[in-house]
Amino acid sequence: MPEYRAPLREQRLAMTAVGGLPRVNQLARHRELTEDLVDGVLEEAARFAERELAPLYRSADREGAILADGRVRTAAGMAAAYAEFIRGGWIGVAAPAEHGGQALPNWLAVPVSEIWRGANLSFALCTMLTQAAIEALARHGNASLQSVYLPKLVSGEWTATMNLTEPQAGSDLAAISTLAVPEGDHFRVRGKKIFITWGDHDLTDNIVHLVLARTPGSEPGVKGISMFLVPKHLPTAARAPGERNDVRTVSLEHKLGIRGSPTCVLSYGESEGAVGYLVGALGDGLACMFTMMNRARVAVGVEALGVAERAYQQARTYARERVQGVPIGERERAPIVRHPDVRRMLLTMKAALAGMRGLAYSAALAIDEAEEDGDGRASARAALLTPIVKGWCSEIAQEVASMALQVHGGAGYIEETGAAQPFRDVRITTIYEGTTGIQASDFVRRKLAADGGAAAADLLREIEEWLREAGPVLAPGAVAALERAVRLVQSATRDLLAASERDPAAMGTASVYLLLAYGTVLGGWHVARQALAAGAADAWGRARAALLAVYVDHLLPRVDWYVAAGRAGSASVMDFPLDEL
Ligand SMILES: Cc1cc2nc3c(=O)[nH]c(=O)nc-3n(C[C@H](O)[C@H](O)[C@H](O)COP(=O)(O)OP(=O)(O)OC[C@H]3O[C@@H](n4cnc5c(N)ncnc54)[C@H](O)[C@@H]3O)c2cc1C
Repeated sequence: MPEYRAPLREQRLAMTAVGGLPRVNQLARHRELTEDLVDGVLEEAARFAERELAPLYRSADREGAILADGRVRTAAGMAAAYAEFIRGGWIGVAAPAEHGGQALPNWLAVPVSEIWRGANLSFALCTMLTQAAIEALARHGNASLQSVYLPKLVSGEWTATMNLTEPQAGSDLAAISTLAVPEGDHFRVRGKKIFITWGDHDLTDNIVHLVLARTPGSEPGVKGISMFLVPKHLPTAARAPGERNDVRTVSLEHKLGIRGSPTCVLSYGESEGAVGYLVGALGDGLACMFTMMNRARVAVGVEALGVAERAYQQARTYARERVQGVPIGERERAPIVRHPDVRRMLLTMKAALAGMRGLAYSAALAIDEAEEDGDGRASARAALLTPIVKGWCSEIAQEVASMALQVHGGAGYIEETGAAQPFRDVRITTIYEGTTGIQASDFVRRKLAADGGAAAADLLREIEEWLREAGPVLAPGAVAALERAVRLVQSATRDLLAASERDPAAMGTASVYLLLAYGTVLGGWHVARQALAAGAADAWGRARAALLAVYVDHLLPRVDWYVAAGRAGSASVMDFPLDEL
């Protein structure tokens, strides 16, 4: 049994349940997409991931990356796998056709990326950052930057990074102090960036850093921040990597997980200053970076899904093999999968995965629809879903990976069995690209409060209508439970928006709870949509309806808890004396 199998049948079901190809074909850009092509792409991705990427998962974790003589060397096999990956044209799957990409919809590209992340998260981080940078450059770069850099990135010949964080500027990007001084047609960049994923490596002969920095005399705070493209090597006239730019890898972080991906401290401009080119307008750096960050936030939610799926698969295999104790009502010792508590854990994981997958794919479709948005509805939906995908998927994935380890008992705590690695790897997903607290703050302050809750109300109304229509086909208990949960988050949203005027700290103490309540309700809705789409013609289809019952019994009741804690107000937290912490 291989360590990771792309869950193609579940993926195809989730893709169908969010609207399927008929809905994607309504978009002018994707009218020609066929089922055959969709199946072909997914099957090929699965083959590549299972054969080339999954076998490196554990060895790259053990070996890690090494910094020697100023160069980063990645674990054995990573560079060769990358060469194969770009030969397959996988970097440019969703990139615009005019820049050499295949312009496939996110509805398909996101499931493909789930496969990369489930097979080998460390590897997939490199390709994800390049894809997000392509989008930022395609949207904000000028024609000259696009013509030099986009073909190299879309083909994967060069990779890209995202440079925001500095020692004093993490969540608080207003504190960024890296400085870019104008000099002719370029800038000289000086400063230190920390935690830069794939900031240096031996996979390609050039790396394109997208760097946030201020310019002299710019406004304080985020309005004074601009985005710069800083190549590791300055391209020659023939667009080959030329002179080495003034950017140096100072050190590599020793991390809890994703050890196969080099996380670098980069120093810009220790000598003459690193040559950088402005992307977008001066002062628009954060807006430009948000193109990259929004894409990366959905990507991190999908990372959490991919790693959690891998953890689940390992636990399922182990539970079928490990014999321990006599299950209730039986006479013989039996595999632990027969014990009710182990079954509960496995099924809770499986139900959570189905919900995460539906939510992430629905966000991918909303991003596609936002490209051809007449009335702004799809854009508002994509914006609303982004922090929920990142926040809820990454939080629930912690539990899935933890339960997977628990199913292994003591063997889970031992590195040799391999159950601990997904648990370590998935831990980062609630932290980078903005912590859960930052996602929740974005969700409540920007996505709910900014439009008075209109986009959220539109989504919840759609769920109610869907439940009314699907009601007669699904189990009545499940429909009633989902309808009740929808009403709970509707009233909690209204109450929180009203309470925050009386008690400004209430938004801070309640926002994570509200985000998790939305994620849990949306997850349940997607499991229901999948149950309906699967039908009851065979055992596999009927098991989707049974999975909805598991979700309703074991995950949906959390909505009550989240709403109660969110409604509690801030007093118990804010009145507690800090000195007594
Ligand atoms: C392995 C790894 C890879 C990374 N890759 C990259 C990369 O490629 N590029 C890059 O630029 N960065 C990268 N990062 C940095 C990452 O994005 C930051 O670590 C993250 O945004 C949090 O910032 P911080 O670590 O400074 O934590 P802090 O901002 O110091 O946060 C600490 C705690 O305080 C909370 N907090 C802070 N401010 C607020 C607030 N206003 N309201 C409520 N709570 C708040 C946070 O939620 C958190 O719980 C990476 C980090 C790691 C560990």
